Amino acid sequence: MTPEEFRRYAHQVVDHMADYMGSVEQFPVRAQMLPGGVESALPLAAPEQPESMDEILKDVGQIVRPGLTHWQHPRFFAYFQANGSPPSLLAEMLTAAFGQQAMLWETSPAANELEARVMEWLRQLIDLPDSFTGTIQDSGSTSNLVALLVARERALDWRGNEEGLSGVPAPVAYVSQETHSSVAKAARIAGYGGAGTVAVATDARHRMDVRALERAIVKDRERGRVPAVAVATFGTTGVGAMDSISDMADVCEEHGVFLHVDASWAGSALILPEVQAMARGLYRAHSLVLNPHKWLLTHFDCSAFYVKWPKDLLRTLRVSPAYLESDAGEGGREYRDWTIPLGRRFRALKLWFVLRSYGAEALRGMIRRHVQWAANLERTVAAEPDFEVVTPRSLSLFTFRFRAPGMDDVTEVDRLNLALLEMVNSDGFTYLTRTDVDGRPVIRFVVGQLWTEERHVTESWSHITRIARSLHTVRTKRSPG
Ligand SMILES: *Cc1c(COP(=O)(O)O)cnc(C)c1O
Repeated sequence: MTPEEFRRYAHQVVDHMADYMGSVEQFPVRAQMLPGGVESALPLAAPEQPESMDEILKDVGQIVRPGLTHWQHPRFFAYFQANGSPPSLLAEMLTAAFGQQAMLWETSPAANELEARVMEWLRQLIDLPDSFTGTIQDSGSTSNLVALLVARERALDWRGNEEGLSGVPAPVAYVSQETHSSVAKAARIAGYGGAGTVAVATDARHRMDVRALERAIVKDRERGRVPAVAVATFGTTGVGAMDSISDMADVCEEHGVFLHVDASWAGSALILPEVQAMARGLYRAHSLVLNPHKWLLTHFDCSAFYVKWPKDLLRTLRVSPAYLESDAGEGGREYRDWTIPLGRRFRALKLWFVLRSYGAEALRGMIRRHVQWAANLERTVAAEPDFEVVTPRSLSLFTFRFRAPGMDDVTEVDRLNLALLEMVNSDGFTYLTRTDVDGRPVIRFVVGQLWTEERHVTESWSHITRIARSLHTVRTKRSPG
């Protein structure tokens, strides 16, 4: 394809992008497709001869589009949102055009230095002290892994790196029952193992029980294990619980344990002073992750990872072969040493576009609106006679269940709620996901999509109640008594 041919098709594709953005609301949120639906439409082998771009683009419309779950849909209330705003998209287009591989300063001074500066901007916006230094990781999962690796090596005095883990005392990571699954995965990869991953009990508000944390640390030390890291979650994925960072910091400081804060979702809301006040003691953490690719309008992937002691991070991860020699200058950084893969995308550009083109004030306004709409809906749900709020709202997330009148059997109520969720999602009008609370399924409602207006929230709620009540009526008719 010549640059001129590229220009012609690129204009078509951009028109397509703008049309999609303007019409995404018309699509069913969750893909209306059975497994195998896309694969069965694809040839079994790659073509030997070139195919025209017209044909390829036609297949995007006919094969790919129907297989999309529309994350940019204003009635997407599932998981956590993955927002792709227009300014972020413009930056992603440029990022792709420049095709940078930003592993070293020298392979992309622009990517390197822009990253340093936007991480500073974001650090100030979330009111984190300048004792923290940031880098952009591909995901919250990688950030959690990096934190667990650094914590392990600090606790083992870098013997793990040197000797491997078989001859050293066992490092232990403390999580809660609500900690994200990526931390359990990171603990496996980092060699803590299931045995070295302690799930500390939670209190009635699903926060880590700090006294139980302290008891576990003391017990492990007595047994000759090495308490290495405690993971505090600021906004758990299931119910949005917020561990007490400052109480955990007391325990961690007392016992010399690394404190990592996973704020992958709620961390974006730290641009609000009223949310900063909820994260008391954050400055005492050793590392922190938040995902602008969730709630700060920046395309996946963009995960902001901050550490207090970059030297420890470098000592853990840096390996320097001759073929990667480079010079970032006095005070410069080689980000290849800050993460797992060597190769790095130019991710700072999209965050820079977002922060500049919206400005902090508009971003704060958006998050406040999302929180307000969730609060309004929570009140509505609480007032419905046949629904209950199960876990109260944390920022823009709460969970609920349908309490069908006259249905007392817990198993039956749970089954009805799972059926309700599946019906809501398979009809495509709106999209929500579940979690378990105290061993029972509940439905999560989380507001956070860029295009969402309050009417999308209320429309979705009407839709859910309508389906719930019809479902219950059908069941009652089918099984009288
Ligand atoms: C989403 C989430 C993660 C994982 O983030 P990825 O960027 O998808 O890897 C980790 N922890 C919490 C609390 C999350 O909400």
